[in-house]
Order: sequence, then structure tokens, then C-alpha cells
Amino acid sequence: MNIKIERTTTPKTKPDQKALGFGKYLTDHMFLMDYNPEQGWHDFRIVPYGPIPMEPDAVALHYAQETFEGLKAYRYPDGSVHLFRPDMNAKRLINSNKRLCMPEVPVDLFVEAVKAIVKVDEDWVPSEPGTSLYIRPFMFTSEGQIALHNCSRFTFAIILSPVGAYFAEGINPVKILVEDEYVRAVKGGTGFAKCGGNYAGAMIGQEKAEKLGYSQVLWLDGAERKYVEEAGGMNFVYSINGEFWTAPTEGTVLPGITRDSILHILRDWGVTVREERMDIDTLIASGHDGSLKEAFACGTAAVISPVGALNYKGDEVTINDFQIGQLTQKLYDYLTGIQWGKVEDKFGWTVPID
Ligand SMILES: *Cc1c(COP(=O)(O)O)cnc(C)c1O
Repeated sequence: MNIKIERTTTPKTKPDQKALGFGKYLTDHMFLMDYNPEQGWHDFRIVPYGPIPMEPDAVALHYAQETFEGLKAYRYPDGSVHLFRPDMNAKRLINSNKRLCMPEVPVDLFVEAVKAIVKVDEDWVPSEPGTSLYIRPFMFTSEGQIALHNCSRFTFAIILSPVGAYFAEGINPVKILVEDEYVRAVKGGTGFAKCGGNYAGAMIGQEKAEKLGYSQVLWLDGAERKYVEEAGGMNFVYSINGEFWTAPTEGTVLPGITRDSILHILRDWGVTVREERMDIDTLIASGHDGSLKEAFACGTAAVISPVGALNYKGDEVTINDFQIGQLTQKLYDYLTGIQWGKVEDKFGWTVPID
């Protein structure tokens, strides 16, 4: 891949690494490439970060033909920069794109583009504890077309943001509201795809939860509103009597890479993992009788966010006295240890950018 690089002549002042927040700052550059059926992917370029011109009738704006990914680059103690399982993001984007009738970005091309843009903005990868560089690849139909058939022109872009902790509360447990009115996904729908439309449709649940003093929503299945699926933009994992449970990824749950990594680690530790459906009444009852010992939401942005309380239809259960669970803490330390290059990467998950 031949990438044309146009460097900015007006580099930004870098933010204070101790007050990065999440997604507040964007780096100096972005990656772009275009697709059409004649040329396939072409015009690979890294240019100064800035607006992307678009026709007002662009399909992405009207009909939400858009997919995205999220991964991070981490600064190791020796100063080198590594990605975490970027091939998994590439493969997931292929699945998302298939569902949304968008062309594939080959895995190698995706990983090479990510490495190239991170390399150009390498100075932006922070080194303070808890920080990383969030990488946001995304793709959309740039074609103008109100009639909507067979779009053929697409744009793939990558932007970067140095980030601190996702939740203002840090690694402290959060309260979650179980959503019993709205749904996020149904079988045959787009729940497994990482696409903007899923978020647009789910925003109302998140807004409702926040209004009532909860930091996240827990979605139930779309057909019966009975089985536990996932949290807002994170998968949901919990332990009952020493066994770890999470919803199976059967079309309605986003197959999280953090989820997959955590299940791998738990199995490696000899912990029983059950990727099975759980109905919300049983889960709440397990909270009341104390067998629900640990719960957390997980995703690239926050890694692991312990859940201290669940509220379902006004019935609130507290989990582990609103303290982070013992294995939850151990998982967080181990997984982030691998990501930051402080713990041996025995699974071969980390990839240096050069
Ligand atoms: C991205 C995402 C996740 C978490 O996936 P990771 O690969 O672990 O970051 C979970 N649920 C939804 C809806 C998501 O969009």
C-alpha cells in the first residue's frame, strides 16, 4: 500500500496527560481512502485532521450506511507503541460491512492503515498511567443518492484521540438500569454489527438511565424483553456461585474483543465460563440471595467497569456491597497489564506498530 502523507503545518498543542478525559482531543492527522467498483480501495492518504466534505444528499447522512471500530494503542514502559488484537477489529468490520451492504476492507489493509496513522501521530500516544491512544476507524457511503439503490462509493477513515479513563468515577462500581421498555437489537437485525444506527436507536435508553441517576443501561433481548444481553456500548459479564456468565453472541449481541479476551483469560485460569442466556428475574433473584457475586461491563474504551447495582423495574440489588469483585480486579490488572506491556503476553495479542 502506497500511502501519501501530507503533514500538518500547524501542529496542535498537546493536552495535559493527566486530564485527557475520553474523546475530548483529536490528533493532528487522519487516514483516508476511497472505494469504487472500478478501482477498489484507492487514494490511500494521511492528511491533517479536518472536515470531510460531503454532498448534502450523501447516503450516510440520510440512511445511516455507516460502520465503525474502536481499538487502542498503548505506550510500553520502554517507550514502544503496541496495538491490541487489531486483526479482530478488522474481521469484525468485515462482518459489519457485509450486513450493511458495504465493501470489505481486507484485514491486512486495515491493520497496515492503523499502524501507519498511529506511526505518524506517535507523539500523541500518552504515557501517564491509565492512558492510551483511542483509534476510531469508520466507514460510510459518501455517495449522494436519495433514491437509495446499490451504493458504490465509500470512504474509510481513521481518527485518533489520546484518552484517559472512560468513566469519570474511574474503576469504581457504577449503577445500571435494566431497560424494560425500549430494545436495542432483534434476531435478523443489526445487533452484531458495529454500526452507527444501533447507537442512534439506543440513545433514548441511555438518556433515560442517566436522567434517573444510572450511568449505563442493560439491554434485554428484543423479542421477549426477558434475557440479559449487553450494556450500552459494552458487554456484560457476571459471576454466580463462582461461574462467570455472559450472553451468547448469536446475532443480537456485539461480539466484543474485550469480552473475548476476558473469556479466554478466565478459561485459562480454570474458571467456568457460561455463554448462555439468563433471564432477568433469575439474575435479580441471584442478587437478592447473594449468589450474584461480581458483575462488570467490558469494552475497549473503559476495559472493565464494575457494576455495583442493578435496577429492574424499581427493584434494586446491590452487588458485592458496591465494591469491585476480587476476580474483576484481577482481570482488570492482568488484561491492562498485557495491554500496557507490564505482564507477559502469553496469548500473542499485542502487535508493535513497527
Ligand atoms: C464496541 C462495542 C462493545 C465492546 O466491544 P470491544 O471490542 O470490547 O470494544 C460492546 N457492545 C457494543 C454495542 C459495542 O458497540
